[in-house]
Amino acid sequence: MPVIESVVCTFCGSLCDDLRVTVEQNRVLKVGGACALGRQKVFHDCEPTAVWSVEGMVVDMGTAMEEAARVLSSARFPLVYGLSTVSTEAQREAVALAELLGGTVDTTSSHCHGPSTMARQQAGLPTCTLGEVRNRADLIIFWGCNPMESSPRHLARYSAMAKGSAVTGRGQRRVVVVDVRPTPTAKAADEFIQIDAGRDYEAFTLLRSLIQGKAVPEDVTTTGSAGVPFERWARLAALMKGCRYGVAFFGMGLTMSGGREANLELLLTTVAELNAFTRFYAIPMRGHSNVAGSENVLAWLTGYPFAVNFSRGYPRYGPGEFTVVDLLERGDVDACLVVGADPAAHLPRRCVKHLESIPVVLVDPHVTLTTPLARVTIPVAAGGVGAEGTFYRMDNVPLRAAALVESRLPTDEEVIRTIRERITRAQDR
Ligand code: SF4
Repeated sequence: MPVIESVVCTFCGSLCDDLRVTVEQNRVLKVGGACALGRQKVFHDCEPTAVWSVEGMVVDMGTAMEEAARVLSSARFPLVYGLSTVSTEAQREAVALAELLGGTVDTTSSHCHGPSTMARQQAGLPTCTLGEVRNRADLIIFWGCNPMESSPRHLARYSAMAKGSAVTGRGQRRVVVVDVRPTPTAKAADEFIQIDAGRDYEAFTLLRSLIQGKAVPEDVTTTGSAGVPFERWARLAALMKGCRYGVAFFGMGLTMSGGREANLELLLTTVAELNAFTRFYAIPMRGHSNVAGSENVLAWLTGYPFAVNFSRGYPRYGPGEFTVVDLLERGDVDACLVVGADPAAHLPRRCVKHLESIPVVLVDPHVTLTTPLARVTIPVAAGGVGAEGTFYRMDNVPLRAAALVESRLPTDEEVIRTIRERITRAQDR
């Protein structure tokens, strides 16, 4: 039976590219090398469940496309939202459509790693690839993230347990987890530091002082910081300074807790300063398969990574103003194109309530929680299974995902381009 080697899994930001998939007569029979999430994703995406529909009635492709173009072109303040699970080619088309509409384009990044992206704009990102982590890192810190559950092969393939060229296995690495509660990743670590929720900034301030050899106030040395005894922070600072190659992975435990981008600014500054003593890098633990790509594509095309508005004819960046949660909460948006996201599952209830009151065009391979509130649904071939495309791994390395089966459905890229062309033709008439 034909086996396709080196298949890229497009479920999470790890983008494992070593899957072996057996395909016969355009059907996937076996998925080798993936975790349970990746395996399930491939089988699920072989059979898209969405249909062409307008107001709940099944229609043909042309009718759905026409209605999508009509809804978006007649809006005064349309929003193009999502983009975290679609190819960079589709993301590029989505930005072009938002520009044509004079609307706003925002991604799921704005309510997950947006604060860390804003911190990067202030402090920079001293970073490396996952390949370098695998081969060289002898100290790995997971702060506010739990890859054992969100990205199950991360530890074995790239980080804690990976067999690299210079660091050949788990015995040569020290793994530290900092989090507000015990997690499966904490169980796999050498040290777990349980920190009080919302006090990360305080902890980074102390770590930075210790790394720089500054004096620490007496009350901190006696009572500790962020609910953790001083000695444990002192030991972590010594580990960070004394390692040969350290990497800090950080997640939404930092980006979505008190302090947000300020936490990340301090973490990234501390990591940059550590390079006066050793090699130290930071990598955001990204969840969705191409959320890193969405920031790259928006930045190439507009200069900004998310929350970009075109209503004045040129791109304007507005976190807090043009971010999806703020736009929907204020009721600014009067039509929404959702691509590669499920806002009814992930946004606050008050945002979903506004979506229920406006026309929504949903482009997705599957029926999701957003489907019942969509006026138009457009099924597409899933990237990496029914369609090829480029995806960015969490370390910003782009990988090309091949199509495994032939799909009868168009790609996200084709759908968005068709809608854009219909609107352009109507405007030219
Ligand atoms: S860790 Fe992520 S990318 Fe790797 S196989 Fe599992 S779901 Fe796919």
